[in-house]
Amino acid sequence: MALQNTSLDSESNSSDRGGSGCYVSAVHGFILLLLAVAISVGVGILVHFSGGGELVCECGQSQTPAQSPEALRQMCIDLVKDGTGEEICDVCPADPERTTKTPAPEVTTTATTIAPPATTTEAPRDYRLPITVRPYLYSLSLQPNIYGGDNGVFDFNGTVSIATVAEEAATTITLHAHPTLNIDKATIQVRDINSTASLTVPDTSYESLRHFFVLRLSTPLTIGRHYEISMSFSGPLSQDGVGLYLSVYQEDGRNVYLATTQFEAPDARKAFPCFDEPALRAEFDITLVRQDGGERNYTSLANTPRKSSTSLQNGMVADVFERTVMMPTYLLAFIVCDYEYVEDIVSNVQYRTWAMPKKLEYTETAQRHGIAIFKRFTDYFTPAYVFSKLDNIAIPDFNAGAMENWGLITYRDTLLYEPGVSSASDENWIAEVISHEIAHQWFGNLVSPLWWNWLWLNEAFASFWDYHVVGEIYPSWRKLTGAVFYKVRN
Ligand SMILES: [Zn+2]
Repeated sequence: MALQNTSLDSESNSSDRGGSGCYVSAVHGFILLLLAVAISVGVGILVHFSGGGELVCECGQSQTPAQSPEALRQMCIDLVKDGTGEEICDVCPADPERTTKTPAPEVTTTATTIAPPATTTEAPRDYRLPITVRPYLYSLSLQPNIYGGDNGVFDFNGTVSIATVAEEAATTITLHAHPTLNIDKATIQVRDINSTASLTVPDTSYESLRHFFVLRLSTPLTIGRHYEISMSFSGPLSQDGVGLYLSVYQEDGRNVYLATTQFEAPDARKAFPCFDEPALRAEFDITLVRQDGGERNYTSLANTPRKSSTSLQNGMVADVFERTVMMPTYLLAFIVCDYEYVEDIVSNVQYRTWAMPKKLEYTETAQRHGIAIFKRFTDYFTPAYVFSKLDNIAIPDFNAGAMENWGLITYRDTLLYEPGVSSASDENWIAEVISHEIAHQWFGNLVSPLWWNWLWLNEAFASFWDYHVVGEIYPSWRKLTGAVFYKVRN
């Protein structure tokens, strides 16, 4: 409506101006027209005889025998037209005519302006991994250490085995690993899965700019054979909100810690050595090790449902999760926390919202909107949502608004609606961001880009669908209208 009013106002002003101005008679108009034509012809004649000097290039003195004088002259004219004035000197090396008929300052100026940039011997960087092997199954175990209160040692350790198939008869395998990741080189193994024989890895190297961790093999890979790459590693639980990181909330004046992840993008390599590119999809068998018992009831979460738990020594337990579908590393998510949840079954999917125990009641709004939105998406699309559960969890320290990790969506703790404190705008945001992240379960997760520069396309589709679905469920919110206004304004 605002745009329409502006347009009508503009048309009204134009109409008003039509009643005033300067008028000429038909005779005067004809005289003025003749005068304009005469001036145009005169200017044309002057240009013909005095202009175009820079296009006159007499190359008859050229030392290039293979070219006729006329052909060389035309070449000069073409070069000048193209702006490649530097080459004129090569075509007409000793042509005195050119120096007199083509003003030197103009040539010099042209040559200076369009001289090609200085060449460099440094090759452009290619940030893509050299794919000598292609991963298809990870077995990953992680143990974040978040215990001991404010005096705890906040770090993690883990092991990874990556089943791959060789695509080149190369003697190197390159993975991603962040500089903060400490890889125990004594544990590195490359094993031929078919023969159980191990390849010797006499050397490794690391390039910090591209996070390339290179294994050098003593014998070349055999194309088409399957190799398992395994190693142990450790690292700090960072507090910068990316990779596998430390988060904290306050309860009764005390800090309570949790470990969580944010891998988009590209920060999965900060949690474990991997092929951290969106096109390199693989299945994942995840194991998370957590404290069993104690003052707080810790649990662990991953993309898929937990299928078993095994008690370990020192009061720890290993939670084993169902194998994922083929997916990129940036959509993985792992959390160890003391949260609790509410749940509903929607379209045969366990739909849960998680929060700190003392804020569990504030999940009601997110859960109510979430199940309605998720139901609408499952009605819209085939194929169906791929996992048997979808978790939504409020994280106290979270850089983005939310992250569409497949099966385990992370949000800021503004996901929690506190009656009497939170606003209508807060509720609007909750529904919209849930809708956005659920849209990603199809647009971005089921279908994802080959390279990072196309992530915007994920966002474009998810942005449209989040407004559309919320607008359908709550038409009085007028989400699509608001979306257009918001996008245009920004
Ligand atoms: Zn998004």
